[in-house]
Amino acid sequence: MPNFALAERVASLPPYLFAAIDKAKAEVAAQGVDIISLGIGDPDLPTPEFIIDALYEAAKNPANHQYPSYTGMMRFREAVARWYAQRFDVEGLDPATEVITLIGSKEGIGHLPWAFINPGDLALICPPCYPVYATGVKFAGGEVQELPLLEENDYLPDLDGLDEETWNRAKMIFVNYPGNPTAATATTEFYARLVEKAKATNTIVVSDLAYSEIYYDAAQKPPSILAVPGAKDVAIEFHSLSKTYNMTGWRIAMAVGNEQLINGLGKIKENVDSGAFNAVQEAGIAALEQGEPHVEKARAIYKERRDATCAALSAAGIEHRVPEASVFVWARVPGNKTSAEFVTHLLKKTGVVVTPGSGFGECGEGYFRISLTVDTDRLKEAVSRISQL
Ligand code: PLP
Repeated sequence: MPNFALAERVASLPPYLFAAIDKAKAEVAAQGVDIISLGIGDPDLPTPEFIIDALYEAAKNPANHQYPSYTGMMRFREAVARWYAQRFDVEGLDPATEVITLIGSKEGIGHLPWAFINPGDLALICPPCYPVYATGVKFAGGEVQELPLLEENDYLPDLDGLDEETWNRAKMIFVNYPGNPTAATATTEFYARLVEKAKATNTIVVSDLAYSEIYYDAAQKPPSILAVPGAKDVAIEFHSLSKTYNMTGWRIAMAVGNEQLINGLGKIKENVDSGAFNAVQEAGIAALEQGEPHVEKARAIYKERRDATCAALSAAGIEHRVPEASVFVWARVPGNKTSAEFVTHLLKKTGVVVTPGSGFGECGEGYFRISLTVDTDRLKEAVSRISQL
């Protein structure tokens, strides 16, 4: 029999965290247990109706049935540039060279290292974090060094704690605020220090802004790194319509920023995919232009869930960080189990699915992540089951 062994870089990957959670959940559900799934950051709210209508209209147009442009429809990219100006005061983005359409931000983040990382090159990641940063680098043959995010630093990396030699060696650094899984946010001052460091050491800054629109205090909206003067010299930023407009299944996102970085990403993409369905981009334009009232409603719903969940966790004596943005609550594992042991035990005994902190990197050990993606009553029920355990 032929034997088709996985390539080493693939075989050496841990199981993809969220696929592993889905599998464990299905096994317990098959035994008839009432599952409350707080494991994956997938909004449960429906995509607003007007976005579906825009898709339907656009899908009826035969001109949209052919291969789309590799880099995305110019009108979608123009809508992105306008949205960046309105939302983040990032003026003057050139849609032709500084914006690219993506089939969800995951593929863009995963593909970017292919364009800039040579085998043996170093990239910095800041765990606990989304696993795709490290995977993309490793697929490109690069090495990863961790700049851990610690509770005592409110989950910001210690930029000055890393020696000059490592900064000079690093080709790329990934940051994610509001953060998955910690829900920490960054200020423009932090981004300014990062940009300064990156400029001095010729490092690409990759900012993942997937959760910027789920904030709980309008006076403290999460900023874009591109609002820092000169950030475009070193930074590329990813935003996605997935969480903002409840469109995870639609696969539509954008990367914005440094022209060389956008161009490099485009070069990879034109070789491995053929762009996002035009009708989905049309729907994306409608979302960006008219979506804000709907996002406002979603924020109110998440806020109610956050408040109820944090109150229930406090009442149960479970330490946690009250998030100011994102759809996550980052909490301490009660007792002395590891986070993986706790999560498995919880699922088997109570049917509640949460994510082990260690799945986001070793420094996530001792924590677990709750997604606010079920309704308030179910969240309260979940915390009650956790506390009974
Ligand atoms: N970045 C972060 C931090 C995420 O949590 C996710 C998805 O959960 C993504 C990016 C990817 O989102 P999408 O590919 O749907 O745009």
